[in-house]
Amino acid sequence: MPSPTVKIDAYRASAGRIIGAALTNNKAYARLGYLTDRIGHRLSGSTNLERAIAWAVAEMKTDGLDNVRTEKVMVPHWVRGEESLEMLAPVSTKLSMLGLGNSVATPADGITADAVVVRNFAELDALGERVRGKIVVYNAAFTGYGATVQYRLNGASRAARHGAVAALVRSITPVSLQTPHTGAMNYDPQQPKIPVAAITIEAAELLQRTYNRGDAITLRLKMEAKFLPDAESANVVAELKGSERPDEIVVVSGHYDSWDVGQGAHDDGGGCIVAWEAARLLKELGLRPRRTIRVVLYTNEENGLRGGNAYRDAHRTELSKHIFAIESDSGVFRPEGLGLAATAPPLFRSNLQEIAKLLSGIGADRIAPSGGGADIGPIMREGVIGASLDVEGSRYFDIHHTPADTFDKINPRDLALCVATMAVMAYTIADLPEPLAGGTN
Ligand SMILES: [Zn+2]
Repeated sequence: MPSPTVKIDAYRASAGRIIGAALTNNKAYARLGYLTDRIGHRLSGSTNLERAIAWAVAEMKTDGLDNVRTEKVMVPHWVRGEESLEMLAPVSTKLSMLGLGNSVATPADGITADAVVVRNFAELDALGERVRGKIVVYNAAFTGYGATVQYRLNGASRAARHGAVAALVRSITPVSLQTPHTGAMNYDPQQPKIPVAAITIEAAELLQRTYNRGDAITLRLKMEAKFLPDAESANVVAELKGSERPDEIVVVSGHYDSWDVGQGAHDDGGGCIVAWEAARLLKELGLRPRRTIRVVLYTNEENGLRGGNAYRDAHRTELSKHIFAIESDSGVFRPEGLGLAATAPPLFRSNLQEIAKLLSGIGADRIAPSGGGADIGPIMREGVIGASLDVEGSRYFDIHHTPADTFDKINPRDLALCVATMAVMAYTIADLPEPLAGGTN
């Protein structure tokens, strides 16, 4: 790794002021409280999401941020409707469930069928024709989000390929207190669309034990889920205009939509508030960097990524002037630093590691070997260098996409430290006299 070329001594004072200010005002915590308690969850197409957008725009204007605006995005409008799951045999009991986003409905009187329980796709494929007419229950243990989420994303079509009439997926989490976790799923256009829902770990294990005993299991699944016509939504954009090179941009961002359960507190109301508050705090402190810091609250990450794609399309001509983009979408737990895209130039990485030393006092000075974000993915694929705000995330998947992702799970000190990390990073990078990657970035 090359030696860093940036000099951070000139930024120690501003970093200290930013960290102090983040820890001694409660604006971020109060705003996240309003967003979650007074507006609530924010699925694409919902009036809640549009209320949240209007509120952010009005508040950002009172903050005195520059160029506060919405950028229109058409988003998918999936609605859950009523839904339920019952075991009818060998014993009668209701099971907690949440339909997966994008799923189709069952007929009005539900789907009643016997169940087969598998731990993985290999067991499913081994059953082959014996799956026909059945409800497939995936009881895959959590081994990591990326690996286990495959059952949520692709389980329905994999089961439909063998003739299954519905699918149930063990929630993508290591921990459960009877909490089902929703999330997006995709249909393979080559297969019939069958309804699919998440069940709790407790329900999946009950069904597994029952199946292993050799008892026939009869389930009744009812879901009303459907798509309405695409709805109008928007990305929210606001800036702290640069003093010398305003056309050069550092993006700080999160996604403003959430699932339609809980309050979208950690996912990703918190990330949005962190990005927004970072800019507001700099403005309040009179810290205007040489380059522009742009706050982007993306719409429709959860079930479409239309916001991230629309941002790329609307800003295509200035992407070469985007010198860095940070997304916070891992919950607002104690920050550890940034996860920098593995493809970042070595000198950029070396310089970012040097800048991160400004955060060593709060333990947020780690630059991880990879990172990015769903919403900044589209611009990263066009060459923008991106990073995630990394946090101590060992509890994130306990509540992710559940009714339990609520404001009481937010630790105000951790939230403030996330703001400090985002603001110190964004300010320093935006203000450096020289480009981070050498040359012209
Ligand atoms: Zn998220």
